[in-house]
Amino acid sequence: MGSFCGSLKCKRDSSRKECNECLEKGKKIKVVFVMGGPGSGKGTQCAKIVQQFGYTHLSAGELLRKEINSGSENGTMIQNMMNEGKLVPSDLTVRLILKAMQESDNDKFLIDGFPRNEENLKAFENHIKIEPNFILFLDCPEEEMTRRLLSRNQGREDDNIETIRKRFRVYEESTLPLVDYFASKGKVHKVDAARPVEEVFESVKTLFSSTEEQVSAGYLLKS
Ligand code: UDP
Ligand code: MG
Repeated sequence: MGSFCGSLKCKRDSSRKECNECLEKGKKIKVVFVMGGPGSGKGTQCAKIVQQFGYTHLSAGELLRKEINSGSENGTMIQNMMNEGKLVPSDLTVRLILKAMQESDNDKFLIDGFPRNEENLKAFENHIKIEPNFILFLDCPEEEMTRRLLSRNQGREDDNIETIRKRFRVYEESTLPLVDYFASKGKVHKVDAARPVEEVFESVKTLFSSTEEQVSAGYLLKS
């Protein structure tokens, strides 16, 4: 798999270091990882962030579901893994994320539901080579997430109690340690996601307003 040189316009198979031309011309790309358990409200909050702050929303789960529906040769494998609540091979997910980023003209992305384990993160670092600006962590108790998943009725095969339990175990065993890792690097902004949508978004909005300011202030200082 090729890697991403950091410029949205660059479709070349080159690593960031080797692609000086694009680095010079390329825009600085902003990435926010949106992490949280199944049913914590990642998709819902991302849609609101898109409206208010102009990010492009890339949901790893949605990209995988599109891949299934496109009749790809990997479709059956992805479908089976999703139904078992397991994580699909990282290279596949990263390839879909990279492609979606390259197809977009935007320079800021919300990556929702990814990374979910250490291997996911390693693959992202190897192939996309962009440090996330920060992690939005939607913190919600399992009981509330279960209630939401069982009542949301999006026609998803994996929203049944048996698969939900498996997804929670993967979340606990693989994703939460990754949140801790990012927290140890001072990258995590935790929001109480057990509240109603609008209340959660008030906190999210405050957070994004302040980071947007910080970023532009950083540019001013450097120039
Ligand atoms: N999935 C995966 N890798 C990812 C994201 C999702 O393998 O990076 C698979 C995994 O099987 C997961 C399912 O897709 O249980 C659904 O993910 P999604 O993010 O759509 O679920 P959510 O957490 O939003 O309920
Ligand atoms: Mg989702």
